[in-house]
Amino acid sequence: MFKEIRKKISLWNALTLIAFLILFIITILAVVQWSLKSSGEAYLENVAQAVIHDTKPTEGTGFMGTSVHDQLGYEYLVWNENRSISSQQTDQQAMIKSGYALLEKDAKDPFFSKVKVGESEYRVYETQFERGGKTMTLQVFQNLGSENGIMLYITVYLLSIGAVGLLILIPLSYILAGRSLKPIKENFDLQKTFIADASHELRTPITVIRTNVEVLEMKEDEPISENMKWLQAIDEECDTMANLISELLTNAQSEVNQNKDEKGMRFSLSQACAESVKKLKPVARELDVKLTTSLVSDVMFNGNEDKIKQLIRIFLDNALKYTPAGGQVSLGLSEAKRNVTISIQDNGLGIPKDEQKKIFSRFYRIDDARSRASGGSGLGLSIADSIVRGMGGKIRLDSEPGVGSTFTIILPKKKIQSFSDD
Ligand code: ADP
Repeated sequence: MFKEIRKKISLWNALTLIAFLILFIITILAVVQWSLKSSGEAYLENVAQAVIHDTKPTEGTGFMGTSVHDQLGYEYLVWNENRSISSQQTDQQAMIKSGYALLEKDAKDPFFSKVKVGESEYRVYETQFERGGKTMTLQVFQNLGSENGIMLYITVYLLSIGAVGLLILIPLSYILAGRSLKPIKENFDLQKTFIADASHELRTPITVIRTNVEVLEMKEDEPISENMKWLQAIDEECDTMANLISELLTNAQSEVNQNKDEKGMRFSLSQACAESVKKLKPVARELDVKLTTSLVSDVMFNGNEDKIKQLIRIFLDNALKYTPAGGQVSLGLSEAKRNVTISIQDNGLGIPKDEQKKIFSRFYRIDDARSRASGGSGLGLSIADSIVRGMGGKIRLDSEPGVGSTFTIILPKKKIQSFSDD
């Protein structure tokens, strides 16, 4: 699918380039042709004046100078009122014939024209003037062979440059299209893995439920009270599935919102931290883990309070889950000029170096059995990572197996958003 899109993008790029090149070549040719024409005409007018006044043509007049035209030279014919030649600077009979044909137009005003003289094309300027009380007609000719040659040369030159340019740019555009599609492809692959992983994760509880139902079906004559354990197992798996589905939704939501600028209200982060810890105190007591805090008071933060609480909850949950009885978990909060820092420290199992990056991937668990037993789905840290990235922050992890882990969340402070922004 991506190969097709890449090809299409490259094709469109190539077509745009070709269209642009054609337009560019046409513009340049039009400008050159116009400038050659106007300088050529200026040159012929200049020559005509010199012939009329019997002087030499002034050099270097007209647009772009007339140097090209100076070098090409000129020929002329002066006709009298009886349409016979009074003076001439040409020995071409064909030119006299063409000049005569022009004369027959009987034009009173000066004009420019193009005529064929034998095999060659000429630009001609015809004007009338008075000499000895008689009206004479002057025709000045210049061969257009070189001018046409220049145009042909420029056309070939520009087309060659264009062709070489296309030969370089088309593969380049193919490479660039590939590069720009890479993140989209990566995201697409991630989504595919996500769906595959999610369905795999959901299959386990469904299998357990089905097995329990089958057991219950075999015991249809027995009273329910004797088979409560099967029902309880079903209930637990339903809980697992419900948790998993809600985490999947949160995860998908966080991904969607990741690039959006988080808007929210100003709230006390110190209070949010204290509340999160208060909620988990009973759990910690049950697990025999000491839960302490080290919070700077009155730290205000502008953002989504629910998300921040969810974030703290994920890290505290993990710290409690992966710290053996008798251990200690501590939540810290500090503030700097540009950011706030939340840290969750435990002296639990710790995480090996080579696992430290992987644990932020969806469904990744170091000890599958232990994590599952404690209700883990392997989604917590990936959700936390999405939330933090969505807020423009980052997570740092310092951990050593057997010693413990410290997760440090650094969040940039944002300006207060006004309600009208929403
Ligand atoms: P889970 O739901 O399995 O806890 P998480 O994404 O929250 O999923 O965590 C991924 C894995 O990272 C866990 O399975 C666990 O192995 C490891 N982990 C997370 N937090 C800690 C911690 N504080 N101490 C040790 N291991 C941890």
